[in-house]
Amino acid sequence: MIAGNTQRVRARIAQACALAGRPESAVLLLAVSKTVGPEAVREAQATGQRAFGENYVQEALDKMAALADLREQIDWHLIGPLQSNKTRAVAEAFDWVHSVDRLKIAQRLSDQRPPHLPPLQVCLQVNISGEASKSGLLPQEVASVAQDVARLPRLRLRGLMAIPEPAGDLQAQRRPHRALRELLASLRGAGLDLDTLSMGMTADLEAAVLEGATIVRVGTAIFGARAPSP
Ligand SMILES: *Cc1c(COP(=O)(O)O)cnc(C)c1O
Repeated sequence: MIAGNTQRVRARIAQACALAGRPESAVLLLAVSKTVGPEAVREAQATGQRAFGENYVQEALDKMAALADLREQIDWHLIGPLQSNKTRAVAEAFDWVHSVDRLKIAQRLSDQRPPHLPPLQVCLQVNISGEASKSGLLPQEVASVAQDVARLPRLRLRGLMAIPEPAGDLQAQRRPHRALRELLASLRGAGLDLDTLSMGMTADLEAAVLEGATIVRVGTAIFGARAPSP
């Protein structure tokens, strides 16, 4: 099931890339493995999938331990909320963090990134739909935080991440993704060397790719429906 699903997701990405006139290689598929067991990750990895995304730090650490033999074959991305008391474990275990939403968290990650590892790759999470309940920086806060995070020695700031509100049709889905793309362009215009737009999930990956996503984060379409979160 996982192999076929992954193939279908790759086909969706390829089709959206063709429509957008972008090379397929411009979009990285991040397989979101939150709530699924290590054996499912193993199965996906065996199909050639390299990048996996996790939301919950402790769950991810347990899974990494069960998959320690594949450490060189997997890049682990944290995409869920990150509290200060978890930054050390994250700095030691992950390759990427997409969900940096304040300077203090970034400073801790930089301080705690072990010297023998390459810099931690990070994105700033942006509350692009402006919802009161959502985590992420407000668009108007991003430029100043980005300048500070870009200077941290043990991080490499790569770009922006967003989780837009669900929307029904393609045009409505494209709007927040376009806004994130324009925000990234403005940061680049201000001199920051950024290349990553982490946006698009199972329901809206086509819209995201059409607006320039470089990483799409897909869970359900690969691993099946999750149990509702508690
Ligand atoms: C769960 C999750 C995803 C994947 O969502 P699907 O709809 O299952 O593809 C992507 N990004 C984040 C931040 C998530 O929490």
